[in-house]
Amino acid sequence: MLGWKGTGYEVHRGPSGEMSSCDGRIYSYTYRRHPPGDSGYERCITMSWCTTCREFSDGLVFISRDRVLWDALAGLPPYEREDVERSPRKILDYLDGLVRRGLWPPESPVSPADPAPKARRKRAPRHDAFPQRAQRKRRPRR
Ligand SMILES: [Zn+2]
Repeated sequence: MLGWKGTGYEVHRGPSGEMSSCDGRIYSYTYRRHPPGDSGYERCITMSWCTTCREFSDGLVFISRDRVLWDALAGLPPYEREDVERSPRKILDYLDGLVRRGLWPPESPVSPADPAPKARRKRAPRHDAFPQRAQRKRRPRR
């Protein structure tokens, strides 16, 4: 097996933001490390990697408990899964294998990135003779 090179930063980016010359596609995967009953359930690991230069980075990310994450390891028999889960590099090997076999979903169901801000529609200025009543402010429920 080929090795992985952890960047400590983003994949394809150095400490001061310089881009690497690799133009490989970057994949990412987020998984929970703790069982639902655990207080650390929302602390997830997110990893990104490039299948070409095999750089990877991983980090902690908070995902609310009601969000269902795609389980890429679901196809593994329990004993193999246990073995893979023990090491981030083995997880990478496995995920990368899925990519190479064309089994990676075209779009990861959950991305830790913030959703793009919605474009705001500009309203035409009103020229009403009667000023609109200010909308009642929502009060927080007690
Ligand atoms: Zn690369």
